[in-house]
Amino acid sequence: MKKHPSPSSGVAPAEAGVIRKPWPGKCHVGLIFPQRYGLAMSNLGYQTVYRQLNAFDDVVCERFCLPEKADGKLGSIESDRPPAAFDMLAFSVSFENDYPHILQLLDLARLPLLASERTAGHPLVVIGGIAAMLNPEPLAPFADIVLIGEAEAILPDFMDCYRQTSNRPQFLQHAAVTVPGAYVPAAFVIAHDAHGDIATVTPDPGFPATVKLARMPDVETIDTSTTVLTAETTFADTCLIEVSRGCPHGCRFCSAGFIYRPTRFRDPAFLTESIHHAMRRASRVGLVGAAVSDYPDLSAICQQFKGADLRFSFSSLRADALTDDLLQVLKANRTKTATIAPEAGSQRMRNVINKGLTEEDILCAADKIVTAGIPNLKLYFLVGLPTETEEDIHAIVALCRQLKSVFLDASRRQKRIGTITVHTNAFIPKPATPFQWAAMDTVAALQAKARILRSGLKTIANVRFQMGKIRDGYVQAVLSRGDRRVADLLLQRHHSGGNWSQALKQSALDTAAYVTRQRDRDAILPWDFIETGITKAFLWQDYQKALQGRMTPPCPPAGCTRCGACPAG
Ligand code: SF4
Repeated sequence: MKKHPSPSSGVAPAEAGVIRKPWPGKCHVGLIFPQRYGLAMSNLGYQTVYRQLNAFDDVVCERFCLPEKADGKLGSIESDRPPAAFDMLAFSVSFENDYPHILQLLDLARLPLLASERTAGHPLVVIGGIAAMLNPEPLAPFADIVLIGEAEAILPDFMDCYRQTSNRPQFLQHAAVTVPGAYVPAAFVIAHDAHGDIATVTPDPGFPATVKLARMPDVETIDTSTTVLTAETTFADTCLIEVSRGCPHGCRFCSAGFIYRPTRFRDPAFLTESIHHAMRRASRVGLVGAAVSDYPDLSAICQQFKGADLRFSFSSLRADALTDDLLQVLKANRTKTATIAPEAGSQRMRNVINKGLTEEDILCAADKIVTAGIPNLKLYFLVGLPTETEEDIHAIVALCRQLKSVFLDASRRQKRIGTITVHTNAFIPKPATPFQWAAMDTVAALQAKARILRSGLKTIANVRFQMGKIRDGYVQAVLSRGDRRVADLLLQRHHSGGNWSQALKQSALDTAAYVTRQRDRDAILPWDFIETGITKAFLWQDYQKALQGRMTPPCPPAGCTRCGACPAG
């Protein structure tokens, strides 16, 4: 691999697959990931958009990421050019907690933070990525345009529109009408009622009132895989390949499971070809998808590479889909830790969230994993789920105790005892899910639940307990569920040296109203203007079923129009 200077990250990463194109006569796009280099290059979506943009003959796309030092100089990884040299700066945003970095990067780029203060002489600021797909409103004042949906379904029309228009106002208006998923925040006036809730959303004349989330009808032959290989990522020497998009299980807390509906799979022959290509570049292949184990030919495809000098990893395997074949693949790859995500301890709670896993599924998965020679287990749980009681929290401890017993028996047979790590996160009621109307637990309630878990789990030997920071969860919920007034909070934090506590204290904004308040069915939610394809009626009905502990079956293979995401007929 060749070493390249990387002024924006402050490191000199060795990279393979970097794309460098001549500049004259091209449209120059700076593609920014609002995180450090290692995380940027671990993100398959970011890597894919980099390749897709460079695939246009008349586009040069170069990368930027968050500098190692807060006041670091910002230069593109490919040519060390400053952001001001680019026609567009496109942010790819995956996580709400990265929003403050967008302001930091705009500042480092010496651009006015607010779109209203920028002129045609500044680069166009574009925001996309899954966080923006779910609810772009907290970022609305910073963006000239937001792209809502899957990049493959947007970029060709977006670039066409850019080529065909001669000035920025004309481009923005034309894009809002002709480019799928294009949203121009400045063209919407939001009015609030006396309680501070959204009363009306009014588009300017000539702008559509809603924005249709853009998605590909299928992903069979779309090449979503690592473009740039570097050792400085979470996935060193690994080519990531997307095997599927969407998930058929409908876990009610999971925004990706809804926003990427319907589930679409890569063509097996195309996937096999991608793996062959990947193994010429790296010794590992990471198969990525919301539910990799639902891929129909997964075991068969992996078996084809048996004996080859190639190791596989999977981004997600359901506990009820761990076949012997898959476990053998994991074992052959010398996997040391496998993950099970029960999400909740009691069956009642798992039904509420539509997890579709029984206690037997979970215990059986643990036994199979350890028996296959994988010594360590990582368990994921959510805390603060709708209808959750103290009993449900104790049920997490009880389930871990049962798992420990199964784990110990299997480990003794293997003559090797590993560790169980229990990782919990605060549940956030995400936009575009059936729980979008639900209230998040208060910080105090979550802290009390964490105490129960900590004291219960410490009595089980060899079980480690980890809890995501509850304060961070609260901030993430504000950024995830807020409307465009949250932009002021982001500005306040930015100007107070990055201190969230201070910004939250000083802000007049009632952030709890976004987070810990149950919303009415008819409330106008900040993200309601996005047509995801899933009807609000379906989401509400599914929410009501959740409250009654009733489940919704997974998506059938064909002939379903239940949620609205699949075309009729
Ligand atoms: S319409 Fe049916 S099959 Fe299609 S995504 Fe919705 S629930 Fe799943």
